Amino acid sequence: MIIRDSIEVNERVYPAPKVPAVAICLDGCEPAYLDAAIADGLMPTLKRMRETGTDRLAHSVIPAFTNPNNLSIATGRPPSVHGICGNYLYEPETGEEVMMNDVRFLRAPTLFKEFYDAGARIAIVTAKDKLRALLGAGLKFDEDRAKCFSAEKSDSSTAAEHGQEKASQWLGMAQPEVYSAELSEFVFAAGVKLLAEWKPDLLYLTTTDYVQHKFAPEDAEAKTFYEMFDRYLTQLDAMGATIVVTADHGMKPKHLADGSPAVVYAQDLMDQWLGEGAARVILPITDPYVVHHGALGSFATAYLPQGVDQADIIARLKATAGITLVMDKAEAVMRFELPGDRIGDIVVISGENVVIGTSAHRHDLAALKQPLRSHGGLSEQEVPFIVNRKIDMPSAPILRNFDAFFYATTAAAL
Ligand SMILES: [Zn+2]
Repeated sequence: MIIRDSIEVNERVYPAPKVPAVAICLDGCEPAYLDAAIADGLMPTLKRMRETGTDRLAHSVIPAFTNPNNLSIATGRPPSVHGICGNYLYEPETGEEVMMNDVRFLRAPTLFKEFYDAGARIAIVTAKDKLRALLGAGLKFDEDRAKCFSAEKSDSSTAAEHGQEKASQWLGMAQPEVYSAELSEFVFAAGVKLLAEWKPDLLYLTTTDYVQHKFAPEDAEAKTFYEMFDRYLTQLDAMGATIVVTADHGMKPKHLADGSPAVVYAQDLMDQWLGEGAARVILPITDPYVVHHGALGSFATAYLPQGVDQADIIARLKATAGITLVMDKAEAVMRFELPGDRIGDIVVISGENVVIGTSAHRHDLAALKQPLRSHGGLSEQEVPFIVNRKIDMPSAPILRNFDAFFYATTAAAL
């Protein structure tokens, strides 16, 4: 039970919800997916939410990647506050690339922790396990107050570490394959069961973009996915919770007419210009799950050698076909609210249908079974933001996906 009227988290004030406040992050949900499925009559509940609730577009965090956006939704603030600006961090002192999915990289408390400390009951279900530790940071798990588990490792969740013993058994659903639509379905099904039987004050459901990387909005497989989501959304909505449906980022085709990926290999360019290995290009999309995107996204950062003419490198990159935006660190920190100590000297963003790679030989394009779809840049920052209540709310660019719990709790306090 929450004992206060409001809870302050990272300098934002959230009203204490009177009914469960639910945020759903549909990974890679370009707004067109919803439009296509609704047009076919496959999402009656979401269609009704749009008509009788509040329907907006919001902007994601740049880089338009999964972890920065999920942590922004979890903290209510941009990466400059919480510190997570990608999956990878390059440490120039050691020359090492380090995964940024460890809790020690998180610089701000999540609103789950702050609500928990105020007495609230918290449930978080993720598709992939990579997000679970970050989202659950600071929670003390027990089956009464806090649960945070992933579909990916649902066979091995424990009461002590996840607040849920053997989640797959509890749900009555087999632990899904990591590359599957079922991984997301598990998240929705767990959300329905938690809301029905456990009544969390805050519930966060976050899926995987496996389907969106493979299929375009008009593809049957994508439509089936959103039809499945709507069935669970119907059940969540019927239980009286306030629900915000948003996304971590959009998704765009990034390939040429022949189906091969449209890539600018930035490390190869820098090697030509500055000498082999003099600059270091970092692709923060890189993670252990590369099968569906080949570590190719539309955002890169680069560390340049000392004494190099930065303006000249920026000008050359700007003149490269497919690159739409290049800026120095100071501008990137200000414009995208990024932590300056965790990005390189320059930031490079490619266009709607182009991705950035390091060196051609370092990307295993054979692993890509379908024409590449990916994200990361400005062309994937527009995401849906739909609430199942009528509520006074701005639209993009003012509205951000990380306002999800602000509006979910605001609606839940009415
Ligand atoms: Zn994502």
